[in-house]
Amino acid sequence: MNERHASVLIVKMTPLDDVLLNPAIKHLEELGFKAAVFNVPLHVPLTLYNWKRRQFKAETILDLVKREFSDVPYTAIIAVGYIDAYAEGLNFVFGYSTQRYGTVYVKRLKSDDVSVYQSRIIKEVTHELGHALGLEHCDVPRCVMNFSNSVEDVDKKSVFFCEKCSAKLSSILKAKQRV
Ligand code: ZN
Ligand code: ZN
Repeated sequence: MNERHASVLIVKMTPLDDVLLNPAIKHLEELGFKAAVFNVPLHVPLTLYNWKRRQFKAETILDLVKREFSDVPYTAIIAVGYIDAYAEGLNFVFGYSTQRYGTVYVKRLKSDDVSVYQSRIIKEVTHELGHALGLEHCDVPRCVMNFSNSVEDVDKKSVFFCEKCSAKLSSILKAKQRV
């Protein structure tokens, strides 16, 4: 797996305890990514808040992340925050991504059991990174790219890419290196 020299910058959108983020960083490194945390939180303005829904709109936060981090020398940028967000047509999202940029919303992933909370964050950060690098949803139930509609779905899947997604990711990253 170490042929992957892709680098990931994790950006905080709200204060987040290292206890919550460190396991995700460690997991990405175990998958062969170089991962770093940018410790200056991204300021998400209240103008992006929908007061009727009491949620942030994921599309507009993603635009902000794209604007603020377009110049950074990382393969992918994943912003993580204790935020509840929705996307067009969806009641809520755990994450929302586009090419190179991803966001993860941990508020609905919270559990009184810290290890469960950490595990959910690992899975959603890995999932959104998969999207940011070009992977789509996967039908394999244990695959981290399986779509999760609830925390129960998140708990059911593993922290790993299935064989098919893993192979696809490797070829995407190899193609990127050639550029
Ligand atoms: Zn997804
Ligand atoms: Zn898969």
